[in-house]
Amino acid sequence: MDSSEDEARWSLCLLCREEIDTEDETAILECTKDCRIKERILYCEDFPIRICSLWFHKSCYQILMASYKKSKRPSLEIFRSFAAAVEPLHTPANPFLADTASTWEGLVSHSTKRIMAGIFRQELFMRLPVEIQSMIVDRISPCRYLIVLGETRRLIEQLRNVGWIECELVLNLKQTVYVTKTKYQGNLYISGVSNSPLEAVDVDQERLELPICIEKIILSVDHIGVRRLQFLDHNTVPSSDDSPWYEIVDIQDSDVVVHVRFDGLFVRNLRIFRGQRLQPRIWSLPDPPDYNDWNVFGTLDNRHRSYVKLGAGIQGILACCAESIIGIHGFRGLTKEYKSFNTFMEQLLDCYPAKRIFFPFHVNEVIQGAWVRRRIGCEARYSSPTLIIRTSLGRVMSFGPHPLAALKYTYDFQSLLKRGDGTISGLFYDGMTSFAEHSFRMGVICDSNHPIAEFHESEPSLEQYLAPSIESFLTQNLVTMHLTKAPLEGILKVRIWRDHRYSCLPFTGLLLYYENGNIESLGQIRLHEDFELEIMAPICIEHGVRTRGNLPFVKGVHGSATCPRSRNEDCEWQTLPLQGTIVWWTGYLVDKIDFYE
Ligand SMILES: [Zn+2]
Ligand SMILES: [Zn+2]
Repeated sequence: MDSSEDEARWSLCLLCREEIDTEDETAILECTKDCRIKERILYCEDFPIRICSLWFHKSCYQILMASYKKSKRPSLEIFRSFAAAVEPLHTPANPFLADTASTWEGLVSHSTKRIMAGIFRQELFMRLPVEIQSMIVDRISPCRYLIVLGETRRLIEQLRNVGWIECELVLNLKQTVYVTKTKYQGNLYISGVSNSPLEAVDVDQERLELPICIEKIILSVDHIGVRRLQFLDHNTVPSSDDSPWYEIVDIQDSDVVVHVRFDGLFVRNLRIFRGQRLQPRIWSLPDPPDYNDWNVFGTLDNRHRSYVKLGAGIQGILACCAESIIGIHGFRGLTKEYKSFNTFMEQLLDCYPAKRIFFPFHVNEVIQGAWVRRRIGCEARYSSPTLIIRTSLGRVMSFGPHPLAALKYTYDFQSLLKRGDGTISGLFYDGMTSFAEHSFRMGVICDSNHPIAEFHESEPSLEQYLAPSIESFLTQNLVTMHLTKAPLEGILKVRIWRDHRYSCLPFTGLLLYYENGNIESLGQIRLHEDFELEIMAPICIEHGVRTRGNLPFVKGVHGSATCPRSRNEDCEWQTLPLQGTIVWWTGYLVDKIDFYE
């Protein structure tokens, strides 16, 4: 990972959102607090109104300014308001997907029409089918020029017209509500909300008749602001949309007004005051399920809570794990949700030593036990909490780091179920709002209609599996190990995944297929990619040791018939035993296979 000094050198251009190398002589800084880089400062004042520094590409700044008559050019005050209005509320899970829509707008924007007249005709482009338009935009995206003159310029104009910036509005829940929306990065956001019709002439507004007894307000939100509002009475079920998060604001009879935060372009949130500002519940679905206090590990607060539905159609649990769980996905095939989860994970894995751990379910298998293993005597966030589940078939899986045998006494377990709870129909955890943000609160949802056939109070033991203690040559710390395991009896064939990006770790994982139709997973599987090889049992594996750092890895997987059985100093072939358990340990730059009786 980069040092913090390296990271500090990179900032985003306010106008095109691309990274700026701040050492680049052509980049310019609008400074209100830090005058170190004297020669490139665009503006500075001794008594800053707002403490922030804005970066521009010189070319972006010049392109934008050249599109205005001299007297109409935006002031630095406007740029500063614009920066505050579009500043993300938190890091989005997939920050790199937004530029296509912004580029598209630039292609068909009024302010680029005249400039591109010689080379591009908007009328012809608009006549193309949307699929073709989309392909063209994909080719040229991201285009700084089009983003600056299209979307950015439109929003700066809108900000000027609104005239009132960064304020808190009061909305009466007993009156009609009017809403206007603004497009940004391909999504529509609420840009105005009022009890009287909004005056802006060129904007469509929506009129909402509110129910007489409002029980809840559901805000569809993301890192920019509010996309949609649902005012619900007790009869109405909220609907979901494409938003990543839903804020659930519970309303009482005594609540007459709500307070709306507006930053000049977008409505950022909506809150109730009852003596104090109340925080909403934030979930990845608009109608979160009920749970009991004991179904949760860690204190619940207003952080974002991701819900994972199990049950019908579920093929397995895919988890992104490091020192704790970073993300969990209920795998139902290569769905849109899987692709979005995978994009998040790929970006994370590029810069962070996390692992993708997959646990496939067998036919009619349900989860009947869940525990959190955590280090004793430290705060939840530092306790490396690991989720351990036990299924109706007695299979046990852990999502999170496996403790060293010597440290066994420093861990304990909290059961997430009590006798009388139903089987587990869903999981939830906090996180997934930004890179490398670990989840240290997690919980389970029980289905009271399906009682647990065989309830186990005490946690299943995984102590017999001894994590190899391997020191990382990079940090001199022990490598965090993740456990995946499978029975050896009845293996029919294996499918093998390799990762060609890393020459040091050619084999990343196996799916094992059994005579009885079951499937098990070892190591890391990239479910959206085809397996590289399929080999019928009996199977041989080759243990390897990397010269650099002396770290073990899986060097080869072969059918017995074709096994070269060569032996030399740093490799060793081994035929899979016919009984017992195969364990695949995976850690940063380490993959190691062990066998247990
Ligand atoms: Zn730029
Ligand atoms: Zn300054």
